[in-house]
Amino acid sequence: MEQEESRPPAQDDATAKPWQQEVAAPLEIDCSAGGSIPCSQGAIRHDWQLAEVLELYRSSLPDLIWYAQQAHRRHFPADRVQLSTLLNIKRGGCPEDCGYCPQSARHDSSVHAEPLLPPEEVLAAARRAREAGATRFCMGAAWRELRDRDLPRLTDLVAEVRKLGLETCLTVGMLNEHQARELARAGLDYYNHNLDTSESFYPRIISTRSYEDRLRTLEAVRAAGIRVCCGGILGLGETLEDRAELLIRLASFDPHPESVPVNVLVRVAGTPLAEHEPPDPFDVVRTIAVARVMMPASVLRLSAGRGQMSDELQALCFLAGANSVFYGEELLTTPNPDTEADRRLFARLGIRAENRG
Ligand code: SF4
Repeated sequence: MEQEESRPPAQDDATAKPWQQEVAAPLEIDCSAGGSIPCSQGAIRHDWQLAEVLELYRSSLPDLIWYAQQAHRRHFPADRVQLSTLLNIKRGGCPEDCGYCPQSARHDSSVHAEPLLPPEEVLAAARRAREAGATRFCMGAAWRELRDRDLPRLTDLVAEVRKLGLETCLTVGMLNEHQARELARAGLDYYNHNLDTSESFYPRIISTRSYEDRLRTLEAVRAAGIRVCCGGILGLGETLEDRAELLIRLASFDPHPESVPVNVLVRVAGTPLAEHEPPDPFDVVRTIAVARVMMPASVLRLSAGRGQMSDELQALCFLAGANSVFYGEELLTTPNPDTEADRRLFARLGIRAENRG
């Protein structure tokens, strides 16, 4: 009886939730298409309710992966992964107090403040990332916000990295509308600004800025025509409801963020969250699957914490709908799988890197 109830129902079952209706066959859809398509499976929605998201989370894992697979295959080839490389262009000394971050000047970690990297070093790293197969080059700076005096250096970097044939992404703190427009004019493709967790849990992790501040930057980025990269972190001590609320918030954006990084806390000595219990790995898989159902056309990136995942857990994450990874040995300040290990894993799984467009 239990099994019967949890089995994905047939399409004509009137009680089926939208994500439970069966798809006859995968569709061939251009994975660059981000718009809405007229189907219930993998349809774009912005009105997710807490109760239905919790129900989705609590589905049996096989059912949840089935729902996620159907949504995924409506929008993406199931065997592709997009590769982004992240370079820390300005390390440490950040005035913010994000509880998970070793770059905060308020925490006693081993990361110390360094100046912005010279452009030739950044461009050399971008060339190496391109040679290794990355299609997007992300540049992160440990700043609270972008100061106008640093803007020209960043617009120059964006323009130069684009000339290498790479997509560009920046994550340099809060932006105002003018700065976002200037970065868009320079050709910036994506801006990363994570919401991290639910609005109600946020003040337990960060006290030096508000959720509203984050949302304002995201609005400025969107208004400037830059694509949005926005996600969260698992393992901060949040509840299932917090995870659901974060995903509901992300899915409420119209359009959905084009890129959604799913991070798992990397516990770094000297940070307030260093002793936190890591999340159950299956909860990571579930979160990815729920995100895939709720934001079916967004690229879901396995981000921080992948270095601590087994190959088998990463494979489950790909099955659940992850279709992007950070590629390269370091993520800002923490280790990431080496590129050779990633190539071997993709080959074992029959997953191919997305080609440059
Ligand atoms: S996460 Fe970003 S804003 Fe927060 S302390 Fe680290 S570098 Fe600063």
